[in-house]
Amino acid sequence: MKTKRYDVVVVGGGIGGIAAAIAAARRGCKTALIEKLFVPGGLATSGLVYIYLPICDGCGTQVSKSLAEELLHKSFLYGPGSVDEKWQERKAHGHDSTRYRCIFSPAACMLGWESMLEEAGVDVWYDSLVCGVRMERRRVKAVELENMSGRVAVAGKVFVDASGSCVVARLAGAPTLSANNSRTIWVLDHQKGVKPSPQKDMGEHLAINYISSLPPEELPPDYDKPNYREPSGKDVSEYALSTRRELRQKYLDAYASGKYDRTTLFPVKLPIMPQFRRIWCIDGKTTLQPDQYGMRFEDSIGMVADWRRFGEVWEVPYGSLLPQKVEGVLAAGRCTAAAGDAWEVTRVIPSAAVTGEAAGVAAALCVKRRTIPSLLPVKALQHALAENGVPLHLPDVGLSYK
Ligand SMILES: Cc1cc2nc3c(=O)[nH]c(=O)nc-3n(C[C@H](O)[C@H](O)[C@H](O)COP(=O)(O)OP(=O)(O)OC[C@H]3O[C@@H](n4cnc5c(N)ncnc54)[C@H](O)[C@@H]3O)c2cc1C
Repeated sequence: MKTKRYDVVVVGGGIGGIAAAIAAARRGCKTALIEKLFVPGGLATSGLVYIYLPICDGCGTQVSKSLAEELLHKSFLYGPGSVDEKWQERKAHGHDSTRYRCIFSPAACMLGWESMLEEAGVDVWYDSLVCGVRMERRRVKAVELENMSGRVAVAGKVFVDASGSCVVARLAGAPTLSANNSRTIWVLDHQKGVKPSPQKDMGEHLAINYISSLPPEELPPDYDKPNYREPSGKDVSEYALSTRRELRQKYLDAYASGKYDRTTLFPVKLPIMPQFRRIWCIDGKTTLQPDQYGMRFEDSIGMVADWRRFGEVWEVPYGSLLPQKVEGVLAAGRCTAAAGDAWEVTRVIPSAAVTGEAAGVAAALCVKRRTIPSLLPVKALQHALAENGVPLHLPDVGLSYK
């Protein structure tokens, strides 16, 4: 089997992996990004997500900067989207459309993020499924992938697991946490006469429609039943088949109502990734717990805002990027360690960018210092992140602890 060698190997080309790969490559590392799909962005694009959730606290303070901000602006470079200029106006309550966030078209976002990978010199491997790890004692030394060339080994000095489901960490034997997922039925429609709104405008007549926006009495049975915990391969197929069956019914009902026909309402694009929000995250050296917003972590690698609540800001500890029992691997994105409600905050796009950048910088420092992530002095990492413009602690942006 052929072996390719890199300094840093990032598994997963979602937002977490993109941020990690760019951060490592910008620090001079020979970096590979391995992605099983044929496009970048992961759930944020292939799952037809279209809101880059806020990088501010909702009370006028920006808390995530550097790559989290750069990626936000690149998400709408080739399509509709903008940041509301009034985002700094203090909001006590209400809807969040004036926070520092944006709406993007998933395809435009793919183009924008891919251009950043190319500019950073990341070696992108699409259509490549990681399906094995090679270990030396507890340390991951290579991953094995399948693609058109057959089976290939990719060796690295440090690995970033940004697979959204802890593929590397689990194959290596690290403990993980899981959570329930409810069903999501989501489609990019052409819908004549659709009222443009900040939430739905993807261009004329295009809207991402989702059945969760229906009134409760019209929701399909079992819509919100929490299930799909630790989904098996067969569960994923069942999820796809059942949600698409319901989508077909949605179109048939709309045509039968006489309000639409096949030329005025039809699907343009379906999600091509299972829309599970939380699959597996590592049970880290530190696992972020519910209600730990507004708390100081000495080893903070950046901050993220609660997208659902105003004024709740979380410092993210470096320990939440470090798996237990396995060496040579950092988690990024929704794979980072968070329990319960804390995972709701760390799993979203801006948070994945923050942890991705931290993982990429940490990996690059490990390469330079010939060490492993668990032995990297956190002060060195914090210094490097601060050089990138990442605020680490609440007082850095003028906020105080609770
Ligand atoms: C229905 C739904 C709506 C959401 N809405 C929003 C929203 O409005 N705003 C927001 O900010 N967030 C939203 N989120 C959350 C957000 O989109 C994701 O949590 C976030 O994008 C995760 O990024 P990630 O990089 O951690 O993981 P992922 O996006 O899951 O990326 C992981 C990547 O790894 C690849 N991969 C997996 N296994 C392998 C393997 N074995 N080999 C190679 N590649 C592999 C995958 O193909 C994928 O591209 C939503 C999520 C869902 C499910």
